[in-house]
Amino acid sequence: MAYRIVCVEDNPQNMRLVRKILCSAGHEVIEAVDGNSGYEAIVEHMPNLVLMDVNLPDIDGLQVTMHVKDQPELAHIPIVALTANAMHGDRERCFEAGCDGYIPKPITKSELLNTVAHFLTQSEYKQV
Ligand code: MN
Repeated sequence: MAYRIVCVEDNPQNMRLVRKILCSAGHEVIEAVDGNSGYEAIVEHMPNLVLMDVNLPDIDGLQVTMHVKDQPELAHIPIVALTANAMHGDRERCFEAGCDGYIPKPITKSELLNTVAHFLTQSEYKQV
């Protein structure tokens, strides 16, 4: 089953990797390279899932997440944080901001696909 996934990531190599993995699994990937355009992409495309880099050039990915989770019409969309700061407490910061999941970098194919599958099986109705 194919789903629409917004990926907010400013690192071109990470974006390419995520796109390659998700597209080969049959998903539609919508790319955004900073927090503001990421938020706009979420509003415009109403994805089944968002992958959110934490360190972005304009606003912090966790702030974008808080903003999304404040909107009643967007709050149901699962957001999975992608972060290089795999330090103690980082996971907690992501969940406090409202993230539904967390993937530490470097991203591996199996971890990305497993996490995506976990959230997408919970959204039955919004296939692309
Ligand atoms: Mn980044």
